[in-house]
Amino acid sequence: MENSFSAFLRNDIIAKLTAADFDILIIGGGITGAGIALDAASRGLKVALVEKDDFAYGTSSRSTKLIHGGLRYLKQLEFGLVKEVGSERAVVHKLAPHLVLPEKMLLPLYEKRGMGYWLTSIGLRLYDFLAGVKAEDQRKMLTRLQTIKHEPLLLEDDIKGGAIYAEYRTDDARLTLEIIKKAHASGACILSYCRVNDFIYVDNKLTGIKAEDVLTGKSLEVKSKVIVNAAGPWVDELRDLNKSKQGKRLHLTKGVHIVVSRAKFPVRQAIYFDVEDGRMIFAIPRGRATYIGTTDTNYSDEKDHVVITNDDAQYLVKAVNSMFPTVGLKLTDIESGWAGLRPLIHEEGKSASELSRKDEIFESPTGLISIAGGKLTGYRKMAERVVDLVIEKHFDDRELKNCFTHTILLSDLANAKEVDLYIQQLEKKLKERGIEPFNATYLAHNYGTQANEILALIPQHEDAETGLAKAEVNFCIHHEMTLTPLDFFVRRTGMMYFNIHRMEKIKDVILQQFSEIMKWSDAESIRHERALNDMLTESKKFNH
Ligand code: FAD
Repeated sequence: MENSFSAFLRNDIIAKLTAADFDILIIGGGITGAGIALDAASRGLKVALVEKDDFAYGTSSRSTKLIHGGLRYLKQLEFGLVKEVGSERAVVHKLAPHLVLPEKMLLPLYEKRGMGYWLTSIGLRLYDFLAGVKAEDQRKMLTRLQTIKHEPLLLEDDIKGGAIYAEYRTDDARLTLEIIKKAHASGACILSYCRVNDFIYVDNKLTGIKAEDVLTGKSLEVKSKVIVNAAGPWVDELRDLNKSKQGKRLHLTKGVHIVVSRAKFPVRQAIYFDVEDGRMIFAIPRGRATYIGTTDTNYSDEKDHVVITNDDAQYLVKAVNSMFPTVGLKLTDIESGWAGLRPLIHEEGKSASELSRKDEIFESPTGLISIAGGKLTGYRKMAERVVDLVIEKHFDDRELKNCFTHTILLSDLANAKEVDLYIQQLEKKLKERGIEPFNATYLAHNYGTQANEILALIPQHEDAETGLAKAEVNFCIHHEMTLTPLDFFVRRTGMMYFNIHRMEKIKDVILQQFSEIMKWSDAESIRHERALNDMLTESKKFNH
């Protein structure tokens, strides 16, 4: 595969990073940094990006995984935000239809809680209008009976009706990774496991970074005319390091999701429902699981170890049981879950849920450009704003293209119909090889047509399950800069969250594959196994 983003390119990338003088260096390989890297590289700038862990390690693998307009921001009268991110949904779907899947959302309406029927009807109409939603996808209001028919598990007592409206579901980490891969293919020099520890200045202006290769402990320096801080929840740490944390600052809030088996909580479709405290949460089916979230609480603790507390889990379990009384969810039904931090901008006197989700750009006197706030959904427009600013300020003497990331496809499949056809073809191919055909949907939604390459890598004379697992890991190492088993299980495949049973079955095979391909010493293999087991234990802590 041309321009493969192989783990074995790492030394070459380090050599290039340290030898060249870049136009723009981005700190942070979440969706924000990835979007900026692709936008800048595609316009003709010389781009570097460094990420201290794996790509999407931070908030960009721990969201609700929706490409959505943020219906609740209408209540906060954030029309501009809803218009921008709402309109972006269709664009991001077009760019990656295998990964950004149309998902109709059910909004049940009750007499004694939440919004009124007519207000919801008008609100959703406005939501569709602002986002320019196609006629066939526009909201439909439902009667009481229709709502119950759509989701028989709902509490029936005082349901007065409901609404169905259009959103999209994605995998945040895979979306980030596909953008990173595209940026790499467009010439950006991108390194994961490389932590920025300090800045370099000449005449009080930023000219580079000092960093550590986290995998070897070696120091490196990278020079760049412009440095962009896209470090998500860590943005203020870098502003501190740059002695420019003045004026506005970040306000971190924690959001938790829990995963249960679909058999235990068999919702027919995604649902957005009211909780007694006035907040709203999602229940979203994905494969053999249903995930539920989220919470929104102030956070000031350790950013690299954000955990689901007993209270967080209880809150979500209680919310499910009050709205879906026959489900009888218990803490022990939780198979997995994740906790993430929203890097929001602080506003005096506002609670966690009231804080705006709008992005803002800060520029320091020494030239550090920091971007924070925003949504996964709006990554492309955020990137465009940052790169426009960088070009205007530093490169307006060059002939550079205008932003055209809305045309840079992240998939070979053109639309949802083609995705469905591809799944059917894949099912046939899997059957021929004795592999359960249900794997086709997972493979197509995760990798798109790259699944063909995975099939080609399945070793002969291996049992089906093991063969597929080996092929997947092989592909991820050689084409997706996958450096550890955690990268694989958490951010390349989502198995840690959505199919923990398969993960437990194939864990040893995967560890052995890694060890062989990467030529790890015994000590390295043991270290990676321990890290994997620790996260597995943490993920499953309620499930016993
Ligand atoms: P991050 O993804 O955190 O990336 C920053 C990266 O910088 C990290 O990977 C970090 O390791 C790296 N970094 C930090 N310091 C350094 C350093 N010194 N050197 C090198 N690298 C460094 N948005 C939606 O559109 N839809 C949703 O459904 C949705 N749901 C959400 C639910 C929750 C619970 C949360 C918390 C957020 C949700 N969001 C959603 C918002 C969205 O997830 C975030 O806006 C987005 O992921 C932020 O991306 P980012 O790249 O700015 O930050």
